[in-house]
Amino acid sequence: MTENIGVLGKKSPQRTGVERVVNAPLPTVYGKFQAVGYLDHDRGDEQVALVHGDLDANGGENVLVRLHSECLTGDAFGSQHCECGDQLDAALRAVVAEGSGVVVYLRGHEGRGIGLLAKLRAMALQAEGLDTVEANLALGLPVDARDYGAAAGILRDLGVRSVRLMSNNPRKREALVQHGIEVNEQVPLLIPPCESNITYLRTKRERLDHHLPHLDAVAHLS
Ligand SMILES: [Zn+2]
Repeated sequence: MTENIGVLGKKSPQRTGVERVVNAPLPTVYGKFQAVGYLDHDRGDEQVALVHGDLDANGGENVLVRLHSECLTGDAFGSQHCECGDQLDAALRAVVAEGSGVVVYLRGHEGRGIGLLAKLRAMALQAEGLDTVEANLALGLPVDARDYGAAAGILRDLGVRSVRLMSNNPRKREALVQHGIEVNEQVPLLIPPCESNITYLRTKRERLDHHLPHLDAVAHLS
């Protein structure tokens, strides 16, 4: 059995789930957030939730939430292979516009949970004509290996009881419900497609059940 190593290398063998470690003010171009840092003792990941406003204002009910799966290429490099960067941007803006809400940035979710290098290998295969599902399978990897247990634990710790979930992915909603967080509404996060990502988005819709009705309007893109 592996031993859990806690913050700053302190051993914490009994701990499970997520532990709140730090709460720091984070002014951003979108507005003011609190960056609440967590250690996930089950998986060893360091996680962060960006909290805006007062989540308790409505008793923790109906909180606007985004569970954003880490995507280095999309979030940091402006990749047009996927729409992750634009979704993160839209989610942060929406939470500020709402006056309160949470964006949980989920590390360990690269490439739907297969990791950065595997994701890049899958992207190389997609450049050769495979779709995003076929590419993962060709590498002998799961199509979606993401776990939302930590996300649910973080929301619980923040006092969130029910959410309006910004996502087009019904599986994300189901996963959160399975982990005991009530989802009152699924709020679409529709990013206008571009030539580079239209095939990827269509695959998400057709093979991964994402709700992307706006793609109907762009039949002209490749
Ligand atoms: Zn991405």
